[in-house]
Parts: sequence; C-alpha cells; structure tokens
Amino acid sequence: MFKLSERMERIPPYLFAEIDAMKNRKIQEGVEVIDFGVGDPDLPTPKHIIEAMKLAVEKVERQKYPSYEGMLKFRESVANFYRRRKGVKLNPENEVVALIGSKEGIAHLPLAFVNRGDIVLVPDPGYPVYFASTLLADGRAYEIPLKEENNFLPDLESIPDEIASRAKIMFLNYPNNPTAAIADKDFIKETIDFCIDRKIILAHDAAYSEITFDGYRAPSFLEFNNAFEVTIEFNSLSKTYNMTGWRIGFACGNSEILSGLLKVKTNVDSGVFEAIQEAAIAAMDGPDEVIERNCEIYRKRRDLLVEGLNDVGLDVKKPLATFYVWAKVNGNSIEFVKRLLDITGIVATPGVGFGKSGEGYVRFALTRDENTIKEAINRLKDFKF
Ligand SMILES: *Cc1c(COP(=O)(O)O)cnc(C)c1O
Repeated sequence: MFKLSERMERIPPYLFAEIDAMKNRKIQEGVEVIDFGVGDPDLPTPKHIIEAMKLAVEKVERQKYPSYEGMLKFRESVANFYRRRKGVKLNPENEVVALIGSKEGIAHLPLAFVNRGDIVLVPDPGYPVYFASTLLADGRAYEIPLKEENNFLPDLESIPDEIASRAKIMFLNYPNNPTAAIADKDFIKETIDFCIDRKIILAHDAAYSEITFDGYRAPSFLEFNNAFEVTIEFNSLSKTYNMTGWRIGFACGNSEILSGLLKVKTNVDSGVFEAIQEAAIAAMDGPDEVIERNCEIYRKRRDLLVEGLNDVGLDVKKPLATFYVWAKVNGNSIEFVKRLLDITGIVATPGVGFGKSGEGYVRFALTRDENTIKEAINRLKDFKF
C-alpha cells in the first residue's frame, strides 16, 4: 500500500541477510560460532570516559538542547587532539562540527552539495554509506575501483574527464575499511591537487586514523599544503576509544563545506547530547596511552591471525592500520563465506558486500580475543582454501 520512494528503491539490497540467517541457524544447532564479521570493538570504553559521562548526566544544563555545531569546549578538544596527534591547526570556532557519529555527517554531506544527477566519486570497495548517501541526495555514484596492484588506492587518471569535471564530492577513507590499506603522502598530495583543479569536495573519512601499528602514524589529509581549500575530514571516537555505541564524531577542515553540512543538520537533528560531548572531551583530553594500549591489543591479534592464516595456507599480509585483515580467496566471496561458516563455524564478511571490486576477497575483523583467534586457526587446519 505504501510504495517506497524511487530513491529508496535504488539503495541496493542488504547482501548479508542469507549469511546472518545461516549464522543464527548454526548457533541454534549448538555450534560455537566465531564471528569475525563485526566491525565493532569488543573492548570496553575506558573508565575515565564513563566517569565523565556519569558526572555530566546529572547536571541540568547538560540535559537541555545542545547547540547544533557542538559545545565550544568539545570543538576546542578536537582542535587540541588534531594539533597533538596530527600537527594540524584547526580553528574551533568554524573549522570543527560535532556529529552524532561520523556516519551521520557522511550521510548528510551530499544533501548539502549535490543536485539531481550530480556525480559523487565513491571508492569500491568502500563503506556503504558513501554510495547510499549519494543516492539519497538523488546524485549518481561513480565507483572508483581500489585494486590490489595499486595498493588499494584509486587510479585518479582512470576517471574520465567528463566525469571528473562534473563531480561534486570525492569520498576517500584511509586507513581503509575494508582493505586495511594506507595512503602514502604522494597519493594524498596528488588527490588534493586533483580536487582543487576540478573544484571537487574531498571528503576524507579518517575513522581508523589512530588504529595503527609497527610505528606507522596515519596522517590527516589536512596536514598537506592547500588541503583546507577543498577538504572535509570526518573522524570519530568510535574506534579510537571503543565508543561505537555512544554516537559521537566530528567533521573538520574547510569552513564553507562545514557550514553547508551544518545547514542540513540544523534542519534534521538537534546536536549531540552534551553529557556525551563531556565524555568525548574527557577522552580526547585524556591520556593517549589508552589509544596505544588498544593498538597493542589489535597488533597482537593481527599477528596471531595473519601468521595463523599463512600457516594454514591463506596468503595474507599484515596491515599497518585498522582492525581488519583483507584476504584474497578462491572464487565467489559469498560462496566462500558460506562454506567457511558451514564447515568451521567461522564468520567473515564477503568482500562483494562493499562493492563489486571487493569480489574475490573476504574481511576478518580483529574484534575477537587472542584465545578465540587461536581456536579459529585450529579449526582452519583442515579447511580447503
Ligand atoms: C566505523 C566506521 C565509521 C564510524 O562510524 P561512527 O558513525 O563514527 O561510529 C566511519 N567510516 C568507516 C569506514 C567506518 O568503518
């Protein structure tokens, strides 16, 4: 009786329904399923952050409507965090906006700048929100493939001129979900110049910027010359501080782009609960050791999983960032994941769920503890990859 809008009809179907059903069936049968499918940290939010929230929630002034752009104190904490961790100078007055998780900002950005039929460049494979938010704004997504031979960086030269000249936004995400790839400095500089030349908004999703290993430090795109001319960078406390459920993130960079995003947001939401902003302030002002400890946990898990997979015959490399391992498999990724689940009770995510160029790969999330990873490797000893 109530037909969905054409724009909703264009959103691709949820690919994992069948795998979810299969997983639930296995659990019902009594199989101890090991789930490497979820990109949600298993580790708790650090104590001092929770304590800050407890104090703040009692204060009447924190219970009121927040400001749209976020408390000035929150935006100052973001600026300090970016100065300390990235060497980037942000004006908290107009170069930072609080978000209800970075997904919210990513989803709203095209509504501010995309007209019907306008092109948005989205990475394939990629976080599905770039594609979906483009369609929700009646834009057209042009997918740029991320190929292994290019270290999962897009080949900007391969984008036809008539596409690039009409593009309004380019979404990128490094360190990357799902491929766990990182962006080198030359690539970032080249991309900024590409976007400046063509007046494209460079929307960089830096959700994994702090989850790095082996001495690697992930740069902010805003560290580079002239980046502020075209760049909006999304970041989040979700992965950095194990706060996925709290729904807090931010956008920073070019003030004109930020005010466009804010104009959408003032018409849609009413900001982030201030007690949560207080918790985020405690997180970003707090000791960086909590981040380092987190990374060390993921590093150990990465080593166990990658070395274990190599031992049982799957050729994968150790990523320098993110909590994902991206593995090339034989054949169709959905068939592979079903067979893996059926025989071993292990869940991975089929690469094709992130876009057609993800076909042939599967993603394992390092969101399970070391003993569970060891058990998984044990189960894989006789599995035919
Ligand atoms: C987890 C994730 C986010 C973060 O989302 P929040 O809404 O801030 O929790 C954004 N982008 C990517 C690629 C992610 O994997």
